[in-house]
Amino acid sequence: MKTQKIFGVIGHPIGHSLSPVMHNAAFKELGLDYRYEAYDVTPEGLEKFLMLRHTPPFGGLNATVPHKVAAIKYMDVLDESAKLAGAVNTIKFDGRKTTGYNTDGIGCVRALEEAGEKISGKRILVLGAGGAARAIAYACITGGASVTLSNRTREKAMRLAQEIREKTKNTVVVVNYEEKSLKDAISRTDAVINTTTVGMMPHVADSPLPASVLESRVVVMDIVYNPQETRLLQDAKAAGCKTVDGIGMLVHQGAESLKIWLGVDAPTAAMKAAVEKELGA
Ligand code: NAP
Repeated sequence: MKTQKIFGVIGHPIGHSLSPVMHNAAFKELGLDYRYEAYDVTPEGLEKFLMLRHTPPFGGLNATVPHKVAAIKYMDVLDESAKLAGAVNTIKFDGRKTTGYNTDGIGCVRALEEAGEKISGKRILVLGAGGAARAIAYACITGGASVTLSNRTREKAMRLAQEIREKTKNTVVVVNYEEKSLKDAISRTDAVINTTTVGMMPHVADSPLPASVLESRVVVMDIVYNPQETRLLQDAKAAGCKTVDGIGMLVHQGAESLKIWLGVDAPTAAMKAAVEKELGA
């Protein structure tokens, strides 16, 4: 049968992406003869690539580093999720119209919910102030949580907190990224979400949080998914904390993209199995 639609992820570099395996598993499970590919697109090539792809058989794209912010200026319409996050990770082509969305934040919230953690009313400490942190902080606030930020470069966290205050009227506290301040913050926190790159392969012995600050009542989520069990999650388990790894967010941000493109409920179990198989391989 002829492939009717093509989807893909654009990034630079893109070789490591798990998105093709995950989305192709979803298409197979849904019985759709669609294809999802990884495209290595340089920043200089982004505009031309988008111009050439926004007609059938291309149905949509995901954008990853370094295109999430740059893609904004090529969108005809920006969904509220992309406006708030200041970044696009999902692009829908509809005729000649391109709409940009951001599913990172909702993907993180869904992963926490799947792990039995409703975020409404929770006090959440977000480590980091980069692209993922932005999307997650907004999604947590929109979902009724209160957010504290801590980032190595404090000014970046301050700028994000200020922007969130202006856009949502919610107060976001910023704490210093050092042991004593983090320990104080944890004592007033229900869940910690690591959105920094610390602990990512190959630096698997590193953690963004000293183990000494962890308390067993706190839920610890790490959005880093390679390795699946990061040093932070190992330390959190040893401290008696409930842990949530980054694969749940990866799957749910992809599931939300599929919903945007196709209007379907994504087969998240098949997507997760495909990602875990690939990571284990
Ligand atoms: P980013 O925009 O580059 O932000 C990186 C963040 O990490 C910044 O806050 C940075 O702090 C901090 N950081 C880097 N090195 C550090 C160090 N040595 N010590 C302390 N902090 C450090 O990256 P991103 O796009 O937000 O992605 C962050 C991570 O999330 C990546 O590992 C990515 O793979 C993962 N991610 C996962 C999913 C998922 O679906 N599970 C989705 C998106 C992203 P400074 O501001 O001080 O530089």
